[in-house]
Amino acid sequence: MATDEFANDVLDHIVPDRASCSQSKNPRNDYRQFYWHGGFLFRQNLLYVPNGPPRLQVLQHCHDTPIVGHYGVHKTLELISPQHWWPHLRQFVEEYVCSCDTCCRSKSPRHRSYGLLQPLPIPENPWKSILLDFIPSGPGPPCPSGTLFCSPGRGIIINHQ
Ligand SMILES: [Zn+2]
Repeated sequence: MATDEFANDVLDHIVPDRASCSQSKNPRNDYRQFYWHGGFLFRQNLLYVPNGPPRLQVLQHCHDTPIVGHYGVHKTLELISPQHWWPHLRQFVEEYVCSCDTCCRSKSPRHRSYGLLQPLPIPENPWKSILLDFIPSGPGPPCPSGTLFCSPGRGIIINHQ
């Protein structure tokens, strides 16, 4: 916990013999929720997990192990939150689960389908509507500047110099 700024801030206020008792960096913290017992910091009977590898280990234990089998955000939170706590726990779990490679590869999307692509409306006059795209290396002979200005779907291709 030596580098955990939040834990040090809390400990400065709840442990009377800490030498570095200073002004609170987070004045809105309610330090009455915290207590120090057996070398561990607790918040309302939940173990505070310090910043860094311990949080990742708790999350991996509650999400990655075969016995839990890559639950979603809510079930992973249900496994963590009865015993552990740290600031922004939900956000941490959401980011971890959304970035889990196994979940991204194996779980099917549960939202409605995106629907069909809609064609662009046909412009009434030339140059009324243009689309721009710059292709670094397009098909055909290379242009001197190496960049191709293209108006996709409009039949206009101009070499950009
Ligand atoms: Zn996963």
